[in-house]
Amino acid sequence: AKDMGRNGVSFFHSDMEERSLARILLENELKKAIELEQFHIDYQPKLDLSTGQLIGMEALVRWNHPELGRIPPDKFIPVAEDTGLIIPLGEWVLRRACEQNKKWQTQGYPHVQLSVNLSARQFYQPDLLDKIKEVLTMTELDPQWLELEVTESIFADIDHAVTILEEIKELGVHTSIDDFGTGYSSFSYIKHLPVNTLKIDASFIRDIHHNKESQAIVKAILTIAQTLDINVIAEGVESQEQLAILQEDGCNQGQGFLFSKPLSDQDFGAYLQGLRIT
Ligand code: C2E
Ligand code: CA
Ligand code: CA
Repeated sequence: AKDMGRNGVSFFHSDMEERSLARILLENELKKAIELEQFHIDYQPKLDLSTGQLIGMEALVRWNHPELGRIPPDKFIPVAEDTGLIIPLGEWVLRRACEQNKKWQTQGYPHVQLSVNLSARQFYQPDLLDKIKEVLTMTELDPQWLELEVTESIFADIDHAVTILEEIKELGVHTSIDDFGTGYSSFSYIKHLPVNTLKIDASFIRDIHHNKESQAIVKAILTIAQTLDINVIAEGVESQEQLAILQEDGCNQGQGFLFSKPLSDQDFGAYLQGLRIT
């Protein structure tokens, strides 16, 4: 208060102000990065837990800044969401990932589903459906090979969310609820949701082998999903112990460092080539 000017404005930098300065810098860099296409995409395998077969891949965006180095998505995705930059960035990821997937299919590699993350902001864009159709037409990717991962945050407006999910389904594109169990979803309305898959949040998998509550939640999700004929995948599987419990409880799909970390497109291509039966 001592440093307040006559009109009560402090010229002292508070933590808040410094944080927002860092944020403004990040915002500007992000804007440039989109124009300069400083991004690339890694792909993480999804596996069938009973056969070990590859069943899918998740596209994960990566930002390699020329001076700042690698900036993790957890840092820049929230900024991109707040500023709306997620719209052009998300579109770029969708187009690029579909292009890449189609290319692998054309090269004769095994066809596997591609999952792309869709932020709530993208989900509620009025032209979302047109954008998806445009990408599918441009890349000539069959809609059945595309899955969109959305988080429970879209269910803040449940009726609107269901309408959009129905429209996506009409296109033949699959949908998945990411980070499932952490947000708005209540078991009472899951039955109305036109989604293909629930992706159990990594936090439940992390301690599943020594936390009875986490295991109970995972079991409950598996039971209800089975009744509703919805697919379940566990994310963040890191250890054999976790895998053993998931298998025992009847979870058939998984993703995590135990199987593979996210791979560059070259590495994922090589991996696919190794699976090719010729
Ligand atoms: P997410 O969608 O939940 O993606 C899974 C994250 O967990 C990824 O982090 C992945 O690298 C990491 N992961 C995978 N297996 C394991 C494991 O066994 N252990 C641990 N500890 N982590 C594992 P990443 O790539 O850093 O992405 C973080 C988040 O950023 C994503 O979480 C997603 O919310 C967001 N994100 C990434 N790419 C995109 C994108 O293209 N669009 C949007 N809207 N969001 C994205
Ligand atoms: Ca995801
Ligand atoms: Ca997730």
